[in-house]
Amino acid sequence: MASRIIPVDTFDLVVFGGTGDLAQRKILPALFKRFCAGQMPRGSRLIGAARTTMDAAAYRDFVRGALSEFGGEAALDRSAVDAFCEKLTYVAIDARGDQGWDTLSGMMVPDRVCAFYYSVGPGLFSDLSQRLHRHGLVHANTRIVVEKPFGHDLDSARALNRELSQHFEESQIYRIDHYLGKETVQNLMVVRFGNMLFEPLWNAQYIDHVQITVAETVGVRGRGEYYENAGAMRDMMQNHLMQLLCLTAMEPPAMFEPDAVRDEKLKVIRALDVVQPHHIVRGQYTAADGHSSYREDVDNPRSKTESFIALKCHLNNWRWAGTPFYLRTGKRLKERDSEITVVFKDTPHSIFGPEAGRHRNELTIQLQPDEGITLGVTIKEPGPGGMRLIDVPLDMSFAEALGPDADSPDAYERLIMDVIRGNQTLFMRNDEVEAAWAWTDPIIRGWEARGDAPKPYDSFSAGPDDAAMLMRRDGREWRGMKH
Ligand code: NAP
Repeated sequence: MASRIIPVDTFDLVVFGGTGDLAQRKILPALFKRFCAGQMPRGSRLIGAARTTMDAAAYRDFVRGALSEFGGEAALDRSAVDAFCEKLTYVAIDARGDQGWDTLSGMMVPDRVCAFYYSVGPGLFSDLSQRLHRHGLVHANTRIVVEKPFGHDLDSARALNRELSQHFEESQIYRIDHYLGKETVQNLMVVRFGNMLFEPLWNAQYIDHVQITVAETVGVRGRGEYYENAGAMRDMMQNHLMQLLCLTAMEPPAMFEPDAVRDEKLKVIRALDVVQPHHIVRGQYTAADGHSSYREDVDNPRSKTESFIALKCHLNNWRWAGTPFYLRTGKRLKERDSEITVVFKDTPHSIFGPEAGRHRNELTIQLQPDEGITLGVTIKEPGPGGMRLIDVPLDMSFAEALGPDADSPDAYERLIMDVIRGNQTLFMRNDEVEAAWAWTDPIIRGWEARGDAPKPYDSFSAGPDDAAMLMRRDGREWRGMKH
């Protein structure tokens, strides 16, 4: 079932950092796939930009290499790759100097939709913005796409927002969180607000608790310098898990429109209660099976940075009073597993007696490795011999439900095309980012003031045992990756 392709106007996309890791692995393959889907109108151009000197032909070869590695099956079609490369050009440019800026401004078509993708280190976001402005590259149809990390804390995020607001309207700034581009994450909103079934039950009266897990098997090697200054709280919790929490917990917006959705997400972040220190578990992976430890990966034998965090939080509002949210994320864990599980309460009275056991409905929104939604329902175990109850999944694996040809674009494909269309619904607004940092900052400051060290955990385990205890103390268990 191929998806409907919504046409877009002719556009230019300039990828600052067009030779970097993110460009190769995500941005360029995503653009190639949208090109193959017919979503790159005639005349549209992709302009790679970085300091390295090379001409357009060399950049096209570079992109061919990236596509053969990361472009999947579509990149086996050489004529498609050649046609895509026709749209590519390159400018050698220095975000911190004068090199290349006149060339870039000379290439621009007045008033055409032009997105500048900041796929460079965050230290260059201000420089790029200032130079875009100074060289007359900002007009009403200019957009910028800002990669994470958006700030290191509340002060730096505010400073960056202030800086960007000097050069761009908020409607021109797209702070990207690729979790929001995932099909299932958007489906969470459709499941909640497009069906009558769930929303009446979507509150503390019927929901026992919510769990959000984003577990990775990879360590931090190669990103050690960045990660050591960030840790799991800044790298994942403050942005990705917070966004998943918002979409799970928010009130229905009046319409599916950028500010209506973002207003509701913001209210969720503002309703977050202070997290008690004993409701937080931090961990750091140790060496195992020939794999280095976190401290080796970041080359700091005394590191106190967490590669794992689990916490319990509450929302101070009518809908969720008394229903805890458990969030956990980490690296070098035993499974690559990202999911949101909504665990409903027990039925008020079991007519089947205690021998039927305890059965609860669970709705699981699976983001990785496969996307899908599963509703666990309780039924009678088939056969004679009394009323034995079992839980079975009502499964909606997208690949199965929509057929093998289901066209489910990668998160970056969707988000980049949203930028071109000028749709900010799935991008974070300035106040959302600041509110998330305002919640995160005191937690991190508390660790720093106390000198807290994370608990060691075995590589490829489920994280520190204390994370299991966080649940067990409340009579609950983690779903997904088990301890
Ligand atoms: P990277 O591999 O180090 O690439 C950096 C890019 O920036 C290169 O193309 C580099 O090319 C260019 N660059 C560096 N200094 C420059 C300057 N002064 N002027 C112009 N270009 C310059 O980094 P990355 O992993 O792609 O990450 C890029 C951004 O995405 C970062 O903000 C990162 O946090 C974020 N991000 C990355 C990932 C990921 O998976 N990689 C995931 C999420 C977010 P030259 O050296 O030739 O200039």
